[in-house]
Amino acid sequence: MSPDFPAYAPSEDHELLRQTVRALADAKIAPYAAEVDEESRFPQEALDALVQNDLHAVHVPEQYGGAGADALATVIVIEEVARACGSSSLIPAVNKLGTVPVLLSGSDELKKKYLTPVARGEAMFSYALSEAEAGSDAAGMKTRAVRDGDSWVLNGTKMWITNAGVSEYYTVMAVTDPEKGAKGISAFVVEKSDPGVSFGEKEKKLGIKGSPTRTVILQDVRIPADRLIGAEGSGFKTALATLDHTRITIAAQALGIAQGALDYAIGYVKERKQFGKPISDFQGVQFMIADMAMRLEGARQLTYHAAIKSERAFHGEKVPDLTFVSSACKALASDVAMDVTVDAVQLLGGYGYTREFPAERMMRDAKITQIYEGTNQIQRMVIARQLLK
Ligand SMILES: Cc1cc2nc3c(=O)[nH]c(=O)nc-3n(C[C@H](O)[C@H](O)[C@H](O)COP(=O)(O)OP(=O)(O)OC[C@H]3O[C@@H](n4cnc5c(N)ncnc54)[C@H](O)[C@@H]3O)c2cc1C
Repeated sequence: MSPDFPAYAPSEDHELLRQTVRALADAKIAPYAAEVDEESRFPQEALDALVQNDLHAVHVPEQYGGAGADALATVIVIEEVARACGSSSLIPAVNKLGTVPVLLSGSDELKKKYLTPVARGEAMFSYALSEAEAGSDAAGMKTRAVRDGDSWVLNGTKMWITNAGVSEYYTVMAVTDPEKGAKGISAFVVEKSDPGVSFGEKEKKLGIKGSPTRTVILQDVRIPADRLIGAEGSGFKTALATLDHTRITIAAQALGIAQGALDYAIGYVKERKQFGKPISDFQGVQFMIADMAMRLEGARQLTYHAAIKSERAFHGEKVPDLTFVSSACKALASDVAMDVTVDAVQLLGGYGYTREFPAERMMRDAKITQIYEGTNQIQRMVIARQLLK
């Protein structure tokens, strides 16, 4: 193993990055998290702070004007933003999700054209795979793209698209050959300003309320042929290859939300007095804290391990177990995040159940990490398939 790639431990630079992002998130993102949730509004303050500090899309390579951060650094950024505000962490996470298809399979021209404005903070990038009738079974999509001379014409409705309406650019998966199933799906870059693109109402959600989730409606959207990402028919492969890299970022989001809840709960149990002493003196409380922390640290180590493998794969190394570790860390970290945030609410007692305290928001935000980028049942299917093949 190359010494440049420590197996599990972040380098000094990674730790420095964590301190920087944590300080920024505490000062500029956390103060708005409750309001963003309460008002279901986009966390503009977070976007501004992230862009000012070049943390909104750190994964974009330097050659396109980006920070060129590795996958572990990207995980740390997402984790630390999520510790303050789950909704805001979807800014760096979805910028990665939307752009990885272009990075993995796009032409040099596409990369230059679309990654540069993302790196500059002028545009965000969403990922449009799911449809109302095609969620877990994403290959069952109906959105169509038909070649017409030098153009493609797209028709269909993509559902549940994170940051839809705010993002300028969208990676859209559409059927180009209905006879070929998953091999008849292609990926395209669609722009918000392309005639025929519109958005549905914002979904009214349980959590991550600051991140708009909307349908993307494509009505006779005519785009130039060179907006095809990779070869015709390779779109589903690209979509899945993307998830191998980005499920790790969902794990990062889950870790961050859980860490925020654990840190808050630790502060609370040291202050809160019952029976004449801080509740942290009770062994029943101590054991809960210990369980929360050890499970969280276990999930973190697997996530960092997966991030390092993702980085290697990005540089062309063969990493046969990337799919396994990526699904495993996503499922584990999101399950741990759900348990840890429920326990944080428990440790705050009745106060934990109110919106005056952040634990219930963190619990609601954690839930989505078990659902998107493939539900945790789907992750288990993917993992089992890798083991049994
Ligand atoms: C807030 C939010 C944001 C999202 N953002 C995006 C985005 O940006 N881009 C995008 O493309 N999509 C996005 N999604 C879509 C998300 O990825 C899907 O919701 C998810 O993949 C599940 O699909 P579904 O909702 O259709 O559920 P279904 O597929 O209908 O699943 C329903 C239940 O059945 C279970 N199930 C289904 N098939 C199986 C099986 N074979 N074995 C066992 N259990 C099974 C599932 O695990 C689940 O529990 C988002 C969703 C939400 C809620």
